[in-house]
Amino acid sequence: MYADIIVDISHEKVDRPFQYRIPDRLIDRLSVGMEVLVPFGRGNKLTSGYVIDITEHCNYGPAKDDPARMKEIFSVSQNGVTVESRLIRLAEWMHTNYGSTMIQALKTVLPAKQSVKKLAVRKVERRGSREELIAALGEAQRKKQTAKARLLTELLDNETIPYEWITGKLGVSAPAIKSLERAELLCVVTESAYRNPVGNWETGDARKNLSPAQQGIVTEVLGDYDAGRRGTYLIHGITGSGKTEVYMALIEQVVARGKQAIFLIPEIALTYQTLVRFYQRFGDRVSLINSTLSAGEKYDQCERAKNREIDVIIGPRSALFTPFPDIGLIVIDEEHESSYKSENTPKYHARETALEVARLHGASVVLGSATPSLESYYRALHGEYKLFQLKERLTGGTLPRVYVADLRNELKEGNRSIFSVKLQELLRDRLEKGEQSMLFLNRRGYSGFLSCRSCGYVVKCPHCDVSLSEHAGGRLICHYCGYEIPKMKQCPQCGSRYISGFRAGTQQIEEKLKELFPQARVLRMDADTTRRKDSYEKILSAFSGGEADVLVGTQMIVKGHDFPRVTLVGILAADLSLSVADFRAGERTFQLLTQAAGRAGRGETPGEVVIQTYQPEHYAVVHSASQDYEAFYREEILYREMLSYPPVSHMLAVQVFSKDEEGGRNLAGRLAKEAETFIDPAERLEKRMLLMGPAPASIGRINDIFRFVFYLKYANYGTLVKVKDALEERIREWQPREESVQFDFDPINTM
Ligand code: ADP
Ligand code: ZN
Ligand code: ZN
Repeated sequence: MYADIIVDISHEKVDRPFQYRIPDRLIDRLSVGMEVLVPFGRGNKLTSGYVIDITEHCNYGPAKDDPARMKEIFSVSQNGVTVESRLIRLAEWMHTNYGSTMIQALKTVLPAKQSVKKLAVRKVERRGSREELIAALGEAQRKKQTAKARLLTELLDNETIPYEWITGKLGVSAPAIKSLERAELLCVVTESAYRNPVGNWETGDARKNLSPAQQGIVTEVLGDYDAGRRGTYLIHGITGSGKTEVYMALIEQVVARGKQAIFLIPEIALTYQTLVRFYQRFGDRVSLINSTLSAGEKYDQCERAKNREIDVIIGPRSALFTPFPDIGLIVIDEEHESSYKSENTPKYHARETALEVARLHGASVVLGSATPSLESYYRALHGEYKLFQLKERLTGGTLPRVYVADLRNELKEGNRSIFSVKLQELLRDRLEKGEQSMLFLNRRGYSGFLSCRSCGYVVKCPHCDVSLSEHAGGRLICHYCGYEIPKMKQCPQCGSRYISGFRAGTQQIEEKLKELFPQARVLRMDADTTRRKDSYEKILSAFSGGEADVLVGTQMIVKGHDFPRVTLVGILAADLSLSVADFRAGERTFQLLTQAAGRAGRGETPGEVVIQTYQPEHYAVVHSASQDYEAFYREEILYREMLSYPPVSHMLAVQVFSKDEEGGRNLAGRLAKEAETFIDPAERLEKRMLLMGPAPASIGRINDIFRFVFYLKYANYGTLVKVKDALEERIREWQPREESVQFDFDPINTM
């Protein structure tokens, strides 16, 4: 048996592990993540390293052909479980459960060594007693060692002195300092100067008296914690219901027990106010990680975490890998957000990964959202998570009034504008009153679906119940199973010829708005207008500063930000997200509509919302209009159950990429056949394990790379992992030259 070992544990070094033989006495004791001592380099100096893999194959170096020459592991280190070994075990878990190489997984979890020079501060600290210093000073004066005397005099007054000041201002040479250090009168210490990305904050006490509902949550979670029970908790509460206050109370209590806490929040949802609240509560013991930090700054944050200089980290999904020694609590706010799923291999989900981090540390996990993911709510209802509800807005402000505008009727009544009569009327009213409005187009990537503007019919796959997508050559294709029909010219339901794709962008809306209301001051926010680094913040602050009457934008505008002067929100085409070829389309739409509606009427004046749609009877529209999450959940889960979609079942997507269209299609077909051998006929009959596809991916070609995909659905996640392992084995055997394959478990984005 052999072990792959990395000696210097850093992101850059994992590509080149060293292989060692495992001596018989260690075979039963060794596992991935353990720290070991190995003879290293030409001198065979005993060096500590970490086991990242254990295999039966001798793979590396000159010993490849002569395993007897391979060096042996000397011993298992006595350091016990270290920060590093937990990270390596986490990487192994990700490698197993998400399908990536161990190296890719390690690179995901290990901090990248700083690429900028670390700022170091050297100081001289006084050692020795006062008497010893005075004696040494006398001697230096006798011997006319004036520089030494200056330094000793200074040291009598100051316990620590910056090194540069001694060599500069005091004019003391390095050898003179060194000789005093040898005499144990002083000590030179090097400290890294950590760059805190947020700077200094005034600490104030903004602590609230928790409401009974909030206190109930805190008491129960801490009660479990102190009784040694580690759980997962879901807080379902609308925006403003006091979730953040609960998170902070819990974090504070866990930190008081000597542990550390991770607070995950999607970057786009982290507001300045939230940050200030954390800094006011935790001062210098909290830090922030985000995408604008340099690699060096990130590395510094990791070092501070490891050295227990901070207790709390705030950040997006990668903050999960902060090398804290002893994590007590992980909080995931806005847990339904799709940004918690990584789009790069390993395609991990922060929510699932957090549970593993918590298991490795013995921590608890708290999830929170106004619109929980189906996954979390499902588990909460099945008793896997404890569910808490916060039902009231603590800041007052009433829920907005919601109107649903049926676009089929608008067409019938001769209104061919993008804006319904109701929306036009309310926009005019706001412009007259000088109040602000937001117009929101929930376009999400590519949505080439076909729908009838007369009756609202959407062309869907009969097998998968997701929309078919329009392709070149007038074909409509299902991206899950490959079902294909020619594009029709008439609506199959009502015979109307108004059947087409939906094509309107934010720019077009801006133009139409200006035609209709020439006096309106309009700002637009979308991928085009926010390409420059700070333009996003600029547009938001211009709008909240009252420099415009209407903000037009994509979903970017509905996240996180508070605009107290907005009293009208228009959702221009709810169907755009409703009819995306994705089984989560209904869930996304409900989340987006609820969130967008929540933007109206944050201030004193109550708000109004207009949802425009061709499918006003769709349950995602109906229940978001009444802000009724439970009712939405009940209908959505039925759909998932009927078609075995997550969370009822698990789903493995196998994606094949190739420059050569035929080659890609071919490999996808062969792999799908392999996968099919895992399906027991009885299970297929009971629809317990299902294969869908292969089919061209919904974005069938990007940069001339063709993409094919097939899906496996099965209740047991472990079985899907086995299928993935078997497919990986085949790929190694076949060694495709042009094709590459990626795995995605429980995909969030099936484009
Ligand atoms: P959420 O995270 O659910 O949006 P927050 O914790 O941010 O809710 O609370 C919303 C607002 O209510 C904040 O301004 C917060 O300061 C205030 N708040 C929270 N809890 C209390 C409380 N117990 N008493 C008074 N105000 C509170
Ligand atoms: Zn029709
Ligand atoms: Zn289908």
